[in-house]
Amino acid sequence: LLVLGIETTCDETAAAVVARAPSGAGHILSNVVRSQIADHLPYGGVVPEIAARAHVEVLDIVIADAMRQAGVGFGDLSAIAAAAGPGLIGGVIVGLTTAKALALATGKPLVAVNHLEAHALTARLTDGVAFPYLLLLVSGGHTQLLAVEDIGRYRRIGTTLDDAVGEAFDKVAKMLSLPYPGGPEVEQQAALGDPDRFSFPRPMMGRREPDFSLSGLKTAVRLEASRLAPLGTQDVADLCASFQAAVVDVICDRVRAAARQFRDLVGIGPTALVVAGGVGANESIRGALQRTAAELGTRIAVPPPALCTDNGAMIAWAGAERLARGLTDPLTLAPRARWPLDPAAGGGKG
Ligand code: ATP
Ligand code: FE
Ligand code: MG
Repeated sequence: LLVLGIETTCDETAAAVVARAPSGAGHILSNVVRSQIADHLPYGGVVPEIAARAHVEVLDIVIADAMRQAGVGFGDLSAIAAAAGPGLIGGVIVGLTTAKALALATGKPLVAVNHLEAHALTARLTDGVAFPYLLLLVSGGHTQLLAVEDIGRYRRIGTTLDDAVGEAFDKVAKMLSLPYPGGPEVEQQAALGDPDRFSFPRPMMGRREPDFSLSGLKTAVRLEASRLAPLGTQDVADLCASFQAAVVDVICDRVRAAARQFRDLVGIGPTALVVAGGVGANESIRGALQRTAAELGTRIAVPPPALCTDNGAMIAWAGAERLARGLTDPLTLAPRARWPLDPAAGGGKG
């Protein structure tokens, strides 16, 4: 199967062509990402209307590049996949409508992909992970621990009661006057700082339920920063390092709690601990989770950073996985701003 994937749910305009063999092995033929970072930089965060317009301006070029780099024509494709949500609705509409137009013009089936499902399935492309696995999804909008039992079968084990991990990184960056997007900036600063200078709280640590809460930690950083103001460069680095150390401790503890619940819920242990979402690009978090997985006696799969953050390859891959199961969607399909992976778990911020 050969699938074109289109991603426009947030601030990345992306398209990719991915192949999936009957064995389940995946291969990325092209993966083009046009980041809107420069467009949003003056505002310190993603502005939805600007994002939607930027997607309109560049999506056709991004798709043409992805097709050209893959060396394939539309006639060679098995399907057109697009993220149909969750995300900023203006952007989702741009990507999904473009995919529908291409499907209509080429006579190829449309596959509507849940953006979170795409993050969740990426490790099957990069590491060939088998079901069931424990998924830590940590991105800008989501922080969840899920049991992934099959395509379309996700059970939420834990979630965040307030901020997502990526959101906490972004907010800490903002309060320290670091440029958007904050996650990579905080990580860079943390590498230069002392993680033991401030002992920030580790909310939820030790609790049986594998949920997260990050607003208390964020507030602690804010209070310390205002106490120290004006901040010197070493202060900023130490605040970042101490914040990141607290996040690392919390994440590893919550994964341990989730691994226990996974066994009760699914009946067997996970084949792997899979890390997905933009925060998975963080080296400290990746390293700490590697040690946690070893402790738990399971293997870890973390896609390379470029496939952790938003990209078209993950949408194309999820589309191929769905298509292999015969799952396609009608051209009447509506975009969704909200679309939980585990509908039984309901809303909540996670
Ligand atoms: P969602 O997938 O939930 O809809 P999103 O698409 O914005 O949200 P991603 O693009 O998957 O999320 O990830 C972006 C988030 O990851 C941002 O919050 C960013 O700060 C964070 N992030 C990226 N790189 C790093 C890093 N090295 N360290 C920490 N956080 C990071
Ligand atoms: Fe994402
Ligand atoms: Mg993003």
